[in-house]
Amino acid sequence: MKTQHVGDISIDRVADMEGPFATLDFLIPGAPPDLIAENADWLKPRFVDPDTDQIILSFHSYLVRSPRHTILVDCCVGDGKERPERPMWHQRRGPWLENLRAHGLTPDDIDIVMCTHLHADHVGWNTRLSEGRWIPTFPNARYVFARREYDHWEAEHRAALSRNDPAVNHGSFADSVLPVVEAGRAVLVDGDHQIDDGVWLEPAPGHTPGNVILHVADKSGRAILAGDVIHTPVQLARPELSSNFCFDPAQSAVTRRALIDTYADTDTLLLTAHFPAPTAGRIVRHRDAFRFDTGGD
Ligand SMILES: [Zn+2]
Repeated sequence: MKTQHVGDISIDRVADMEGPFATLDFLIPGAPPDLIAENADWLKPRFVDPDTDQIILSFHSYLVRSPRHTILVDCCVGDGKERPERPMWHQRRGPWLENLRAHGLTPDDIDIVMCTHLHADHVGWNTRLSEGRWIPTFPNARYVFARREYDHWEAEHRAALSRNDPAVNHGSFADSVLPVVEAGRAVLVDGDHQIDDGVWLEPAPGHTPGNVILHVADKSGRAILAGDVIHTPVQLARPELSSNFCFDPAQSAVTRRALIDTYADTDTLLLTAHFPAPTAGRIVRHRDAFRFDTGGD
């Protein structure tokens, strides 16, 4: 993705990994089996692998640079995390840190980290291993979490511990969220918190209880960093279909539909957490639904 500009704010993508992830029936239970075939003309080969029919997902962060702040949005899977149920994520050694450096930044330069929600693939780089302990990767940053999101997973975490259940979110709450809180770097905010001039949160519940999206806007334009409100452009063909990973699929569908209806056929840039590169695009009406248009990017 080339650098996107909204007024004096720039937005870049920092990639962790990308490739065929899962079949339609796994990622989106209840999807009609012929959904991909009916939309193959615009889904393949960019969004669906033509050989395997697997949906292609990317895992990436966004770097939002304003005149005052260097904001990192979502922190991917991270390195060295114990994720035995997800082989692609388990004890990973990925290129993410080098990709951050390619944008001219080190972890010291990030002054705000913001996670749209607290799933394992959005919090990983929050922490890194140092002498056997997980510590904040970005020592100068305050980490912005929606209070509703944090409270939900903190309660789930405590309940799992008391029942000897598996750790929540593949253990990521314990190794990638709590160490940030314990280091005093976390700030819990309302779902409509303003981070900077022209940069603010909006509640987008459903995928998780406290899920939020990020607006970057000024009078010249708007970008929506939509996290996991939409996982794959396949859902634009059937907006009512929620992913396998949604906490409340019905609410997730309501939130997704509202976002699509609000921004379809506008100049608003949509930047989701999992669309493949070049990632930035616009929602346009197509047949009796929608598709994703990345223009000439
Ligand atoms: Zn995700």
